[in-house]
Amino acid sequence: TRAIHIVGGGMAGSEAAWQAANMGVPVVLHEMRPKVGTFAHRTGNLAEMVCSNSFRSDDDENNAVGLLHWEMRAAGGLIMTTADVHALPAGGALAVDRDPFSEAVTEKLRAHPLVTVAEGEITALPGPEDGPWIIATGPLTSGALAEAIAAETGQESLAFFDAIAPIVYFDSVDMDVAWMQSRYDKGDTEEERTAYLNCPMNRAQYEAFIDALLAAEKTEFKPGETAGYFDGCLPIEVMAERGRETLRHGPMKPVGLTNRHKPEEKAYAVVQLRRDNALGTLYNIVGFQTKMKYGSQTSVFRMIPGLENARFARLGGIHRNTFINSPTLLDDQMRLRNRPHIRFAGQITGVEGYVESAAMGLLAGRMAAAEVLGQPLPPVPVDTAMGALLTHITGGAEAKTFQPMNVNFGLFRPVDAKGGRKGRKVRYKLYTDRAKVAWTGWLGIPAPEPAVA
Ligand code: FAD
Repeated sequence: TRAIHIVGGGMAGSEAAWQAANMGVPVVLHEMRPKVGTFAHRTGNLAEMVCSNSFRSDDDENNAVGLLHWEMRAAGGLIMTTADVHALPAGGALAVDRDPFSEAVTEKLRAHPLVTVAEGEITALPGPEDGPWIIATGPLTSGALAEAIAAETGQESLAFFDAIAPIVYFDSVDMDVAWMQSRYDKGDTEEERTAYLNCPMNRAQYEAFIDALLAAEKTEFKPGETAGYFDGCLPIEVMAERGRETLRHGPMKPVGLTNRHKPEEKAYAVVQLRRDNALGTLYNIVGFQTKMKYGSQTSVFRMIPGLENARFARLGGIHRNTFINSPTLLDDQMRLRNRPHIRFAGQITGVEGYVESAAMGLLAGRMAAAEVLGQPLPPVPVDTAMGALLTHITGGAEAKTFQPMNVNFGLFRPVDAKGGRKGRKVRYKLYTDRAKVAWTGWLGIPAPEPAVA
């Protein structure tokens, strides 16, 4: 059987190797550490956690990342089952004892008869004759390989920093205050007309908002993080520092818009939100990338009229982060459309976080192995956390404004499309029950027993 080559022994590459090898396909796992390091990794271990030691919520009935944990465990995921062995007490979250965890992942992979760990940096993309490859080199992909990827995908399809604007759930926006309209009413289709939400500010609200932005606590770039890369995508608070009127002439300009609720009132500034997914369940605040701390972000953004009760699917940030424009580049099997022997997995595909990255590795490993075995897998069910993420990165997300994404229920097909605002807890349980049935069906294992109410 042909071997699969996996580049990057992080969260995604380690999981991909485990899945493929357990399906009986030999794997060569290429990892550049410890020979070549990054500014964030400290060791030569596989699956090193570079920052926090948390896999976030472990609640598989009320939380999308908890559901993803459940799905990965059901699939015999190496990252999750090893995390469980090295879990630390952390309430409802899954915290992990990081060094024993990554040492155990490393040992299990090295001990697997079908896995070879090859030390060294890969600097070029392989040709089709070399067999199937999975690129899982993560947010800190080495410079040489990043150049090779950019040469293949086009410079504009590879980003070196994320510029993450906060994302709100549409159903938490107060539509008695906000309204839908594109600037100068551009667009002919229903889709274009519903692409933007607008939140008006009067002068006093604008001044208070600027004061809050300037006063908010910010995070700093880490040493080495911007070396040779940062291309100057300005955080909103930096724009505000340049002058109190800068935002009003930039992302918050009020022109070409008429308040549907109060047509006679001219707004002093307008915050625009743009639809972030095809389902229309998520909207991002346009131009609001920021390095404010998370706690400050929620309080500052809830000062925006219409967003007083906003719930955030993701808060803003700017980080060093290598990722490709997956919606335009990858097919639904995570292969480069024009070079199908190359798959991508992990954070480089535009998911965000340890768990999400490992999850995409799990899928890529299974898909690549199934291909080698000549038994292609059926499509991943869209109602699972795995499927929701995969669908988002390979087609559901808006390609033009594509930014890394955590798993969240906004990525799922709504459960109660016919209306009726069920309580959040009830709704989340419906999502997770539906997902578990679909996922076990895909894996070909028995569905979980329905919990007794
Ligand atoms: P990684 O885990 O980074 O693995 C990629 C691997 O590829 C690395 O081992 C690297 O050495 C190797 N590699 C790179 N280039 C080459 C090459 N050319 N040849 C061979 N090997 C190569 N996520 C969270 O969930 N929580 C956090 O708190 C968090 N904090 C973060 C802090 C920082 C500073 C950074 C950069 C990221 C953080 N992340 C965090 C994101 C986290 O790194 C990813 O979610 C996760 O590690 C991504 O998994 P991955 O497998 O895609 O990449």
